[in-house]
Amino acid sequence: MSASPRIDVDGVSISPDHFINGVRVSSERTFEDRSPLDWTWKLADVARGDAREAELAVSAASDAFTHWSALSVVERGAYLDRLADLIDRDVERIAHVECLDMAMLEESLRQRVISRGARNFRAYAELARDYRPRRWSSNGTQNTVLRMPAGPTVVITPWNAPFMLSTWKCAPALAAGNTVVLKPAEWSPLSCSMLMDLVSEADFPPGVFNVVQGYGNEAGSSLVNDPRVRRISFTGSPETGRTIGEAAATHLVPFTAELGGKGPFMVFADADLDAAALKAAVMYDDAGQVCLAGTRLLVDASVRDQFVERFEEATRRHRLGDSRDPSTTISPLIHPDHLARVEGFVERARANGDVVVFGGDRERPDGLWYVPTLIEPRTNNSEIVQREVFGPVLTLQTFSDETEAVRLANSTSYGLSAIVFTSSEARAERLGEQLRAGTIWVNCFLVRDLTAPFGGTGISGIGREGGDYALDFYSDLKTLQIKEGTTHG
Ligand code: NAD
Repeated sequence: MSASPRIDVDGVSISPDHFINGVRVSSERTFEDRSPLDWTWKLADVARGDAREAELAVSAASDAFTHWSALSVVERGAYLDRLADLIDRDVERIAHVECLDMAMLEESLRQRVISRGARNFRAYAELARDYRPRRWSSNGTQNTVLRMPAGPTVVITPWNAPFMLSTWKCAPALAAGNTVVLKPAEWSPLSCSMLMDLVSEADFPPGVFNVVQGYGNEAGSSLVNDPRVRRISFTGSPETGRTIGEAAATHLVPFTAELGGKGPFMVFADADLDAAALKAAVMYDDAGQVCLAGTRLLVDASVRDQFVERFEEATRRHRLGDSRDPSTTISPLIHPDHLARVEGFVERARANGDVVVFGGDRERPDGLWYVPTLIEPRTNNSEIVQREVFGPVLTLQTFSDETEAVRLANSTSYGLSAIVFTSSEARAERLGEQLRAGTIWVNCFLVRDLTAPFGGTGISGIGREGGDYALDFYSDLKTLQIKEGTTHG
């Protein structure tokens, strides 16, 4: 279907349509996209894709693959660099729209989150250009490991930080020579539509980078079940990860899954307690809708009271409010259904006999804010300890020694991140060995080097992205063996 008129979202012009084969494509059906800042505010009626749009997009990506995969890494990198420049130019506009769409704080979107999208494209253009194939001699042959672009790639992303997380996955796929169909989450699709305007402006060849909007069980399911797709990269919940894994297995397609987290935040008696308490209060930022957050506070029993006093003080400095206001530190939750989910966890915790130390309620009846909440569980088996809430709800437990601390830290099915506060480097090294998590931060949080491997263990994920790990995933590696003495010419 032909394109719909563009819409005005608080002064920013946005297309509500898909972007397929270099043009805007509408659907017969649409879905409503509302702002968590004010649920009565409808931002857009967004094109609701299903099997038809998925088919069109995978066809476009398949056709474009021949040309795109044959370009050199330098030629592909030039497109990615151009896109990065355009993102930098438009950071303010994208930040504003993403703030309205998912309620992340506008200041942090502007300062770091959206510009990370530009960094993602630049970093992968450079990494792909810098690739030096591994070469060695053995058994009388010269061996070389080559990367071959894998094919059309489907990227499925969640509603939190959609622009940053989508570019994090699309950038290496494109740099590796794959064409992409991105399906952003239905609760916050607008910034990815803006990205497609920039893809068009950067003059990407038609079909190289496409977006299909819609629900997971319609557009998403059709995309991951198309047999022409050669890679699937997913970020979201473990439940959806399993469903997509089944589709990947059916078609024997390699897939990576970056899933939920329930990270420990460990405070040892030798830690700087002021610094630890301030950082622990940061776990409430973005209303706790951060997969990497350390949501289980594990504190040495000998410093429990000192830590909790400081932590409560640091938490009192939080300000719930409108995410556009720079003095706000806690945004509303994304959606009424998600608020109900968070409330359900806290209600079940109360019924289970877990103790709500502070918080445990909505901020006001008519908004989507939930106050920072701390719960002391009755046992380590309590649901509130074992399952991801994805809201501003932390738990507090104590340990008597390092062995018990590690046992508690490793006692959930998740393994995405761990945060440790200690002044002992030897302990930091020991915990680095013993903690089951994809990323372990000691005396810091969210410091990222894009060349490091990123992912989770257990139900937090399958595979690793980041740096060369991502470029390898989006490629088919092959070994070229040339018998020594083969003459030139
Ligand atoms: P979700 O699993 O409900 O949805 C994620 C995406 O999958 C959406 O685009 C959705 O439309 C799509 N989807 C749903 N069913 C599908 C299906 N059958 N086939 C194909 N696609 C389908 O997750 P969410 O609620 O959007 O996001 C929150 C979750 O994401 C949390 O668990 C959070 O921890 C996790 N997350 C993980 C990371 C990470 O890097 N590990 C980062 C951000 C969020």
